[in-house]
Amino acid sequence: MKRNELLSFTASSIYCPSADIHIDPWKPVERAIITHAHSDHAKWGCQHYLAHKDSEPILRMRLGSDISLQTLEYGESFTINGVNFSLHPAGHIIGSSQVRVEQQGEIWVASGDYKLQDDLFCPPFEAIKCHTFITESTFGLPIYKWKPQQEIIDEIKVWALQNKLQGKNSILMGYALGKMQRLIKNLQPFDQPVFAHGAIYNVNEQLRTAGFDLPYIPPVNNASKSDFQGALIFATGSVLNTPWLKRFEPYSTGYCSGWMAIRGAKNRKSIDRGFVLSDHADWDELNTAIDATGAEKVYVTHGYTDTFSRWLNERGVESAEVKTMYGEEEEAATETTES
Ligand SMILES: [Zn+2]
Ligand SMILES: [Zn+2]
Repeated sequence: MKRNELLSFTASSIYCPSADIHIDPWKPVERAIITHAHSDHAKWGCQHYLAHKDSEPILRMRLGSDISLQTLEYGESFTINGVNFSLHPAGHIIGSSQVRVEQQGEIWVASGDYKLQDDLFCPPFEAIKCHTFITESTFGLPIYKWKPQQEIIDEIKVWALQNKLQGKNSILMGYALGKMQRLIKNLQPFDQPVFAHGAIYNVNEQLRTAGFDLPYIPPVNNASKSDFQGALIFATGSVLNTPWLKRFEPYSTGYCSGWMAIRGAKNRKSIDRGFVLSDHADWDELNTAIDATGAEKVYVTHGYTDTFSRWLNERGVESAEVKTMYGEEEEAATETTES
């Protein structure tokens, strides 16, 4: 741990020594700033949490309704021991924030996870000028290049309608927090009956109760087999190759993830259709975001850290990879941990 740096990388977090506060700690600490509610960034057991107000419903659902949580608006700032902190949109999922840290004119930004495409559900990414930028690199290879969201939404609509015409249900899979709200928001109005897996239903209802503009999607458990005729069912990837799917026969499966860009990823998971839709930045977006910050130094936390930081160095941006425990959320981990 270098003493002279505004933020440092410790065995438990991204840490600000001057303010004694941690960003996205993976071990319990006293005070934590949470960039977003995905499980690899929002760990249980901290004494005090601080996050954007839109993260509150899911943080309380996942970490406990009684956690000590202070929330902020985007752009609102607070100071601890001469260090100024503020949160800014990361465009990744609802509530996702970059953490801007400033001390005596020196500015660092820890971005958590982010994407540049506007998903029309969470506020879009805003580039923040800084001296040092901390980035993820989940899809930090040139082979990852996302199509505009609307093209993917149209592909999904056509697929689901074709299934309906063939008398099949459509099982559309992806991560419960983030991906599913993005899909539900953008696929409506629906051309067929819709249902949600329990995990997705719970996240949606938590957000709807908090006032977010999402349509009601009934849970599959309240429906009977006769309801599933040409229906669209929102499900998590955990249902693949499980008896849960039986009630929907005949059906076709579709999976939404950035990993679907890799030839073979779909086949390995025995999915009928892959849709390349990610809540992370692609190669161009990573480079665009980094350039927009004007940062002199970039730390790469998770993903293709080695390759991506080497690339940045080659193109004249001083960069280093750092070891963190991020990247275990479902999308980031699909290739390595899911069968
Ligand atoms: Zn995330
Ligand atoms: Zn992450």
